[in-house]
Amino acid sequence: MTRFIFITGGVVSSLGKGLASASLAALLQARGFKVRLRKLDPYINVDPGTMSPYQHGEVYVTDDGAETDLDLGHYERFTGVACRKSDNVTTGRIYSNVIAKERRGDYLGATIQVIPHITDAIKQFVQADLEDEDFVLVEIGGTVGDIEGLPFLEAIRQLATDIGRSNTMYIHLTLVPFIAAAGELKTKPTQHSVKELLSLGIQPDMLVCRCEHELPMSERKKIALFCNVRQDAVIPALDAASIYEVPIRYHNEGMDAAVCRHFGIDAPPPNLTVWKDIHIRKTKPEGDVQIAIVGKYTGLLDAYKSLSEALDHGGIANNVRVRMNWIDSEIFEDDRPLDHLEEVHGILVPGGFGERGSRGKIQAVRFARERGVPYFGICFGMQMAVIEAARNLAGIEGAGSTEFGTCKEPVVGLMTEWLRGNALEKRSANGNLGGTMRLGAYPCTLAEGSRVRSIYGEAEISERHRHRYEVNTDYVSRLEAAGVRFSGMSPDGVLPEIIEIPEHPWFVGVQFHPELKSKPFDPHPLFTSFIRASVNQSRLG
Ligand code: GLN
Repeated sequence: MTRFIFITGGVVSSLGKGLASASLAALLQARGFKVRLRKLDPYINVDPGTMSPYQHGEVYVTDDGAETDLDLGHYERFTGVACRKSDNVTTGRIYSNVIAKERRGDYLGATIQVIPHITDAIKQFVQADLEDEDFVLVEIGGTVGDIEGLPFLEAIRQLATDIGRSNTMYIHLTLVPFIAAAGELKTKPTQHSVKELLSLGIQPDMLVCRCEHELPMSERKKIALFCNVRQDAVIPALDAASIYEVPIRYHNEGMDAAVCRHFGIDAPPPNLTVWKDIHIRKTKPEGDVQIAIVGKYTGLLDAYKSLSEALDHGGIANNVRVRMNWIDSEIFEDDRPLDHLEEVHGILVPGGFGERGSRGKIQAVRFARERGVPYFGICFGMQMAVIEAARNLAGIEGAGSTEFGTCKEPVVGLMTEWLRGNALEKRSANGNLGGTMRLGAYPCTLAEGSRVRSIYGEAEISERHRHRYEVNTDYVSRLEAAGVRFSGMSPDGVLPEIIEIPEHPWFVGVQFHPELKSKPFDPHPLFTSFIRASVNQSRLG
């Protein structure tokens, strides 16, 4: 039987609901249960794909090609369960589906209203596309009290009646601030937030209290009493040194035990060996490597969430701490790359969009290539590497990308047709921008004897994509003659997926986003290999 756990947030945003949900799922999984995580997002965009990374952080892409909230990345990194399109929905998608049905005449005769039509659509979404999971954890985006969140809260309130109160659990994440002037932790915001939830008909069964200081038993008791929650279901959540320590901490505070008790389940204690091992490797590294990430959205690190996690996993695999040096590529327009990159052991140019900052990224590629510093180009970072090699190795003057306007030598160009399985996908230059990139998992064949073939240890891989432009195969022979190897291609040989420079200590560009599939307990081979090469570079001194 599937049980549903709903996770809401109160008091302020950014309390780490996604991490809390993912950590609880990891604990339940460690007790032998089958879990799935989902997220309901109250904003009106149909998906986050059209939002600026500054606004929303990274867009996380699933195998089945959905552009989703970055919390789904946490879900995968903590549970290893691949998320699907059916694991993230927004107000925008719910409304557009309901309105499309109305236009089709599916509700003929009815007045369409938030209750029941929108709430029904939300409830259907929550319960759809499941596979006998023991627990489905559903995170509700935003903060209780937001106008946008009301239909979602109403829907999860109704669900307790539909599927039975004993099969549902409400967890509320709140903040217990420390007021320095009074030298006290304050429980009032938590009380108010729970009151707000109660006014919507939801009595939380557990409170997870984010706090900077130890939550004394007296305060736990007080919160339990005022909020009508069992004392052992008031779980303190102090800031952790590493996110991968959170499951262990929650377990020590009795979270998974309280969840089992709530549902009346007798389950064996969780096996936390994996998390303990990760924690040890993270806290006792044998050395440091310095990696420069030359990008555009360096002001908001959430824009590169999966990337920084994947680099960290590469560090875990090599027992080193990865120090990340986030560099805004635009500074290379005034400063020399040497001033910023001389000390680093590896250079990475991540995914990106648009011409702004691209000149600096190309300069960073050149520096890495000429100096023999390990270089890892991801998506846009591969395209920049191809442009750099075309200009400076193959002598193709004016080499560029059509993403920046018309150009004489389009070594990277807009892709208008490609195969997804057996289906032909078609795009046009002036079509819709939402949800129309090459998205999701595509297979790639690795060339015999290439570096990537030995890194992956297999000939066919599958990786996730999110881009509109593609390296132009018209230039392959000229680039190969100049020393760039096209070592990964789509199985039909039409789309270049990976380039490498065999003469270089470690120079790899990939058209896909390997960071999306890396896990702390299963670091992605490309990141493991890149960090290993950077460790070697650091030893060269
Ligand atoms: N802007 C490039 C494209 O659309 C790269 C996208 C990316 O790095 N994700 O092809």
